[in-house]
Amino acid sequence: MSAIKYKGVDFIDFDSLLSDEERLVRDTTRKFIEDNLVPIIEECNRAGRFPRELVKPMADLGFFGASLKGYGCAEMGNVEYGLMTQELERGDSGVRSFVSVQSALVMYPIYTFGSDEQKNTWLPAMQKGEKLGCFGLTEPDFGSNPGGMRTRARKSGREYVLNGEKMWITSGTIADVAVIWAKVEDEDNKVRGFLVETDRPGFKADDVHGKWSLRASVTSGLSMQDVRIPESNLLPGSGGLKSPLMCLNQARYGISWGALGAAMSCYDTALQYSLLRKQFRDQPIASHQLVQEKLVWMISEITKGQLLALQVGRLKDQGRVQHQHISMAKRNNVWMALECARMARDILGGNGIADDYPIMRHMMNLESVKTYEGTHDVHALIIGQSITGIDAF
Ligand SMILES: Cc1cc2nc3c(=O)[nH]c(=O)nc-3n(C[C@H](O)[C@H](O)[C@H](O)COP(=O)(O)OP(=O)(O)OC[C@H]3O[C@@H](n4cnc5c(N)ncnc54)[C@H](O)[C@@H]3O)c2cc1C
Repeated sequence: MSAIKYKGVDFIDFDSLLSDEERLVRDTTRKFIEDNLVPIIEECNRAGRFPRELVKPMADLGFFGASLKGYGCAEMGNVEYGLMTQELERGDSGVRSFVSVQSALVMYPIYTFGSDEQKNTWLPAMQKGEKLGCFGLTEPDFGSNPGGMRTRARKSGREYVLNGEKMWITSGTIADVAVIWAKVEDEDNKVRGFLVETDRPGFKADDVHGKWSLRASVTSGLSMQDVRIPESNLLPGSGGLKSPLMCLNQARYGISWGALGAAMSCYDTALQYSLLRKQFRDQPIASHQLVQEKLVWMISEITKGQLLALQVGRLKDQGRVQHQHISMAKRNNVWMALECARMARDILGGNGIADDYPIMRHMMNLESVKTYEGTHDVHALIIGQSITGIDAF
């Protein structure tokens, strides 16, 4: 790993577009990641271990539910939130995924669709990292098309009874509560959200093993067999598939910034390496035109991605963001980051495949990031629908 301290990536004085508060959030998160995650992440990745010891320190810095108001949350603006996810993902996409799920996919639906009692029970404890959550939408047979889900909720007296399977659920086995999306039989199979405490009889979570991606994040399958929950566990404001899609929009926004962080890590590593590594006539490989062209591609695309994410964040702060804007930012920036990882790996030659450097880990992680929260191609269809008016799903 490089001995040169990471100073961020900024080609066009992007910093001048940010407020003092926004830079402070970014710099604080960067220091946390540098001091706490960078030293352990390769070991975590090798071992397939989620660094749970970082949950409390991340909570103390206000990372959970950071853009929500009240309940002890940090009340960050959307650009501050984005810059935080950028720095988290410069460390590791898996750790950023954990924070995204806790914040955007569990705290956000409780905040947006929950009763006062649900908010008061869960949000302060989740903000402090004392309780962890997961989000169960995807099923073994329904990923890109969650509307086909088979999970059902049936009313029985003052309870709901849940049955079904969820797959690829981040933090499933470490969660205290699962936000489960199910079709309600008594409501014409309308999709609604439920809070399911994970110690309820009939609820089971098992980790997915053999992953080559997001190894420092927990990924699980959930099974529910006649799980009984009180009717007060229904998220009363949820209704229809648009409710989980609203949550995904929050998370996708964070991912569009997070991917920039992974790209920055790869670019910075490749730049430093190319200046030190000598081949032919005792010259650094950075002196070769073909290597420079790769570095130029990376810095150009990172810069464009920063401007895209920033504009989407500003629109979000003004309440003017559309879901297709977020789709474009997620799709473009994750694709760009994956291309940067591949080019950076190439510049490092054989060293690029070893975990002395972060590149191969980022590359493998980004393969999941490209697929989850709406695949690259599904986002193309969302953008295509918005510009043509034609649904091509
Ligand atoms: C590590 C990881 C963590 C995850 N965490 C969560 C989580 O916490 N909670 C959760 O609910 N889910 C989670 N997911 C699930 C994720 O959201 C799904 O994997 C994703 O939605 C894609 O679904 P799928 O894997 O079933 O692929 P599929 O939907 O089967 O797609 C396979 C391929 O077909 C393409 N395709 C599908 N439909 C179309 C179409 N109409 N036109 C063109 N191409 C199409 C896709 O683009 C893709 O290339 C996670 C996934 C991973 C890998």
